[in-house]
Amino acid sequence: MTEKVSKIFEEARKEGRNYLLEPEAKTICMEYGIPVTKFRVAKTAEEAVKFAEEIGYPTVLKIVSPDVIHKFDVGGVILSLKSPEDIRDAYKKILENVKKHKPEAKVKGILVQEMAPSSTEVIVGSTKDPQFGPALMFGLGGIFVEVLKDVTFRIAPITEQDAREMITEVKAYPILKGYRGQPPADIDAIVKILLKTSKLVMDHQEIKELDLNPIMVYKKGAKTVDARIILE
Ligand code: ADP
Ligand code: MG
Repeated sequence: MTEKVSKIFEEARKEGRNYLLEPEAKTICMEYGIPVTKFRVAKTAEEAVKFAEEIGYPTVLKIVSPDVIHKFDVGGVILSLKSPEDIRDAYKKILENVKKHKPEAKVKGILVQEMAPSSTEVIVGSTKDPQFGPALMFGLGGIFVEVLKDVTFRIAPITEQDAREMITEVKAYPILKGYRGQPPADIDAIVKILLKTSKLVMDHQEIKELDLNPIMVYKKGAKTVDARIILE
């Protein structure tokens, strides 16, 4: 139980939230060595420009609000920003979009984030079984999980062997192995993320749900671009 993690839980509870904001969830991931995109939370458009320059273009802006769980659906995510003008426009646009779709939403800031190159997307999740405690889920992102429900589960904690089995037993595994000239994805990087997530949910039993969705997997390494945590 790291101090930083409990502080984030405390903060959320004080505000009467059981849903952690993306920057909070990603900070917790970082504490456990789970790779995430670089990010800062801006309170003004000029601050967002400053952070984008620090992080480097292309950049992504996202809404940070306890009242917005699905950010993309309310126009709260804008990708591929390449200049200070892009950042200023997107900053304004996101606030407008959120105001239109969810007028009552409380805005905590705008997340400025490194844009991860697109690649094969996987998801790692955790839910709590009332009888067996935390369980881990793995699958490939997008249609594989949403339409085909091609996912696999294990009760936590998992071993390295379990993690490897989870990855190879989904039907979409051949895609990770590489096909038609596509390079193979870094399976070891996914194994590490599964093991670290297992440790995280075992250490913090107050986590009811966790979603790393999606994680971009590369020839070498992987990066979580969105993280969600819900507390009991
Ligand atoms: P939501 O709250 O709607 O799930 P996400 O943060 O997952 O919002 O963003 C929606 C989609 O935008 C993601 O599924 C991913 O495809 C893309 N995306 C988000 N952040 C990044 C990023 N930093 N780099 C690259 N793509 C991203
Ligand atoms: Mg997402």
